[in-house]
Amino acid sequence: MKKITILIPAYNEEQVLNQLYDVLSGVLNSLPDYQFEMLFVNDGSTDSTMAVVKALRERDERVCYVDLSRNFGKEIAMIAGLDYCTGDAVVIIDADLQDPPELIPQMIAYWEQGYDDVYAKRRSRKGESWMKKFTARCFYKLLQSTTRIHIQENTGDFRLLDRRCVEALKKFRETQRYTKGMFSWIGYKKKELLFDRQPRAAGKTKWNYMKLTNLAIEGITSFTTAPLRISSIIGVLISIGAFLYMLFIVFKTLIFGDPVQGYPSMMAVMLLLGGIQLISLGVIGEYVGRIFNETKNRPLYFVNEYNGEKEQNRDK
Ligand code: UDP
Ligand code: MG
Repeated sequence: MKKITILIPAYNEEQVLNQLYDVLSGVLNSLPDYQFEMLFVNDGSTDSTMAVVKALRERDERVCYVDLSRNFGKEIAMIAGLDYCTGDAVVIIDADLQDPPELIPQMIAYWEQGYDDVYAKRRSRKGESWMKKFTARCFYKLLQSTTRIHIQENTGDFRLLDRRCVEALKKFRETQRYTKGMFSWIGYKKKELLFDRQPRAAGKTKWNYMKLTNLAIEGITSFTTAPLRISSIIGVLISIGAFLYMLFIVFKTLIFGDPVQGYPSMMAVMLLLGGIQLISLGVIGEYVGRIFNETKNRPLYFVNEYNGEKEQNRDK
């Protein structure tokens, strides 16, 4: 019998976990041909999330959990889950019921048809402000324009991954992770499913614009070095412009003579160039920072407690 892991990263989700469990087990019970594992990754919650998960495990032995030593963020929680999952396929799903578990049977059906990565694309984003939708759109456009790999727009982490995708993703040990990019990067046979994204069932989102901006910068800098190239191109263009302007000034002075003037234009040019230089430095700094973080070669996470099928003391 094939085994499927449902991977659920959870951070302060006490209010919604029981509801999630009810919906999820309803869906899973309708699929008697498969064995399931519900792997909760407790990402250092400060509320009673862990207690709720433990209570669920008492009731249902399909429930497994990895308890991380502190809050590492969803990206790390996901790789921890992938490290510990034991299924032939993994479905990554948010704890807040924004990703409808009802889609899982269809994902599995496509998987059986030979697709390796069945991802759910949002047809609509209910419960999100126009501002969030707009910024999300701009971000996808920007990211896509800088890379040749196809980035899936409006797609979250809700997807089914075949074992070989999981093994591929486990090879990505970078600390500053942008998992959405990795899903595209690894390739394999992909299939798209459309769904309407619901507002969260309970609790509140952990994202704010600061975090989203960071994720966006993360996404771009971990995926492409285009910003460095853009800085170089801007530098070259400005140099050419400056050279032409210099020729112009020389000839103007030779032909017409020239009383010294031009404080405002000088200020404008200096400030503009200063700004561009600072931005370029920031861009370089962004990459240097990444190099710094990666060369430290730290482990991605630590586990406080694991309870599940995977044999302990495995290599990490
Ligand atoms: N999450 C996590 N660690 C964090 C933040 C979030 O594991 O530091 C989990 C969270 O419990 C949820 C999922 O990631 O299952 C998505 O989080 P959220 O609903 O806050 O994000 P949104 O749906 O608003 O993008
Ligand atoms: Mg959510």
